Amino acid sequence: MFSVHNTLSGKTEEFKPIRGGEVGMYHCGPTVYDYAHIGNLRSYVFADILRRTAEYGGLKVRQVVNITDIGHLSSDADSGDDKMVKGLKREGLPLSLEGLKQLADKYEQAFKDDLKILNIETPHHFPRATEYLKQEIELVQKLEEKGYAYKLDDGIYFDTGKLQDYGRLGGLTPLDESKARVGSEGKKSPRDFVLWKLSREDRLGFPSPWGMGFPGWHIECSTMSRELLGQPFDIHTGGIDHIPVHHNNEIAQSEASYDTPLANYWMHNEFVTLSGEKIAKSAGSFFTLKDIKEKGFSPLAYRYLLLLSHYRTPTNFSWEALEAAQNAYKRLRMNVSTMPSEDGSTNMNYKKEFLKAIEGDLNTPEALAVVWKLLGDGDIRLADKRQTILDFDKVLGLNLHEIELPSAEIVELKKKRDIARKNKDFAESDKIRDELFKKQWGVIDTEDMTALYWIDNQEGSN
Ligand code: AMP
Ligand code: ZN
Repeated sequence: MFSVHNTLSGKTEEFKPIRGGEVGMYHCGPTVYDYAHIGNLRSYVFADILRRTAEYGGLKVRQVVNITDIGHLSSDADSGDDKMVKGLKREGLPLSLEGLKQLADKYEQAFKDDLKILNIETPHHFPRATEYLKQEIELVQKLEEKGYAYKLDDGIYFDTGKLQDYGRLGGLTPLDESKARVGSEGKKSPRDFVLWKLSREDRLGFPSPWGMGFPGWHIECSTMSRELLGQPFDIHTGGIDHIPVHHNNEIAQSEASYDTPLANYWMHNEFVTLSGEKIAKSAGSFFTLKDIKEKGFSPLAYRYLLLLSHYRTPTNFSWEALEAAQNAYKRLRMNVSTMPSEDGSTNMNYKKEFLKAIEGDLNTPEALAVVWKLLGDGDIRLADKRQTILDFDKVLGLNLHEIELPSAEIVELKKKRDIARKNKDFAESDKIRDELFKKQWGVIDTEDMTALYWIDNQEGSN
């Protein structure tokens, strides 16, 4: 079994599933008002490695990524403009439920495309907040009945003062109420948060016992995770920015209403930074996968770059770092593509090393180091190397199995090109290189040899 760092305890713990050989995972999903930036996507590559590690260990995984298609307030501090409203204005869409749906449809699809392009296994459920309104309202009602909610002019709020241990995830420091400014809306404590947001002038929103409005952002996750995975479920993940507010609020609501933990393990990925600063949409400067492709990089080179850092350390993005990652990734592909595919068996010593890395809180940089060590080991048969690396790739997800062996036609073309190069007929050799490229084969020339590497579709479409 593998071990994971649990933000709840602050310790790395052995993972014990609630139900035998199964594991339920919930990953906080995007607000679908814009394209995901490359920082957001780290959260889902991390979740994918977690899933693949569990599956590699023989567990049956059920994964949920929610789609926030309504009222997610602009900052984690529950203030500012609504992100979806911002999106509507940007796209010139009407401020109506139909407009919201159009916006959500577009960016939900873009998000799902990004996951595929990064070779992230498709989660089993992508619930939308608007599909669970009934249950979201019921949860708020339950909190009201149990005395955890109070009403203000603009919504129903959760009373954090009613909980002894509010904020225990990540160890929030106690609030000094005498110094903290109580929110202008009349909240009892600045940490109280909205459960149901009432819409101004009853314009945009959904009917509820309190009037037209929207579920609070936190209530969505509490509701959908319970509905799809049960409560408690096994593992809840998200970026570290979600620890102080969003996840503490999910815990507060879910535990206050049902007197049982929400999830047993909470895992958080660190940020992708740009020049040391967190990449954030609100800050204006961010890159998407489209930018990566437009600059001629393979999206899987970005996946490789992410795997070079442990998920709990920040990773600084630069085009130079991506280029270095792409070169290493290409070398890896090239190595695997030139290995014979028959009769290989997994090398158990290397597998043990690989497992130690990946099952020790998903240490992907160490796992990649094991791959490179294996590649350089002259005592291992090439067919065994290939088989072992393809086995590891079930976890790494670098699509190495899709590498094809060159057909007789390709081998013949390469031979012809080698002869042309030997004769210094560079026009002919360039012609053959282009022909190979059209057939999805790249060449790497060194002084004394030429190697072929297979170009995956994503690279080919750049
Ligand atoms: P959001 O759409 O803002 O809720 O973000 C979706 C996911 O991306 C959440 O798990 C965030 O914690 C995460 N996230 C946001 N910014 C970054 C970043 N710069 N690096 C890594 N993860 C991030
Ligand atoms: Zn969430």
